[in-house]
Amino acid sequence: MRTRLSFQSFRWVKPLGLAALIVSAVLGGVAPAGAAAPLVKTQAPGYFRFMLGDFEITALSDGTVDLPVDKLLHGMTPDQLQHALAKSYLKTPLETSVNAYLINTGSKLILIDAGAGKLFGPTLGFLVANLEASGYKPDQVDEIYITHLHPDHVGGLVAGDKPVFPNAILRADQKEADYWLSATNLAQAPADSKGFFQGAMASVNPYIAAGRFKAFSGSGELSPGIAALATSGHTPGHTSYVVTSQGHELIVLGDLIHVGAVQFGKPAITIGFDSDPKSALAERLKVFNAAAKDGDLVAGAHLAFPGVGHLRVLSQGYEWLPVNYTVIR
Ligand SMILES: [Zn+2]
Repeated sequence: MRTRLSFQSFRWVKPLGLAALIVSAVLGGVAPAGAAAPLVKTQAPGYFRFMLGDFEITALSDGTVDLPVDKLLHGMTPDQLQHALAKSYLKTPLETSVNAYLINTGSKLILIDAGAGKLFGPTLGFLVANLEASGYKPDQVDEIYITHLHPDHVGGLVAGDKPVFPNAILRADQKEADYWLSATNLAQAPADSKGFFQGAMASVNPYIAAGRFKAFSGSGELSPGIAALATSGHTPGHTSYVVTSQGHELIVLGDLIHVGAVQFGKPAITIGFDSDPKSALAERLKVFNAAAKDGDLVAGAHLAFPGVGHLRVLSQGYEWLPVNYTVIR
């Protein structure tokens, strides 16, 4: 009965639709009565949640930033770069995600990286808004693990000179802290790099002053199910984090990769932000190969949000397999 009805209405709607088109053409394309809805022009709340064994992982967006990747990437000609971007329907400047990851282990709430806060322009700094949209409050965060002290990863730790996460212990590699929090290194840095040191100091020092900063050295477990993995090269103490629950593994890469559309296919391409590009490349290959071999999930701070997926080794480079959409049951 239902089928018959819809077939009949189809037969009637078709000529009516044609008549409406003719009338509309005669009237010179005047739209039918009724105003169009105004454009909303906001994005959906920037969080994506999935389970990793017993752990609940929430990818949090801090926003995006337009990167002049033509000026930043090293190891390819401008033509090669345009071609690589065009293959993914992208161009420079490239709108690039800044992501952080919140892990609820069931006994602790741990945030990996904190976004840019006010340090990287008005298109970033939305981490707390998205954390709240996702159902948590900043004062619930127990620990924060930082991949490295660049401004787009630590700026969100503070609002002015106050910690945004008042109950959290802040952790980063000792070498990273020694490098970026050093007054001597700041004094010796070229004028256009001083901001990196100042940003790191402004973001971390309030936690040090509150007795809430605790450095670690190299690889090792920081809390049950979450281990630091030393991956220095992008910065002197760059750290990735391996999250494990019930045999499932997620590697939070930090900045082992910046431009997925280029560097998955050509992992030898480095970026101007790398302090030691050779080591950055070696760590990228090491971690990518291990993740591909073991079938681990990886999460990248600058891969298109939520930046979570699997890797497959190809004859040249890697294939990126973004994670399947899921609802939490
Ligand atoms: Zn970064």
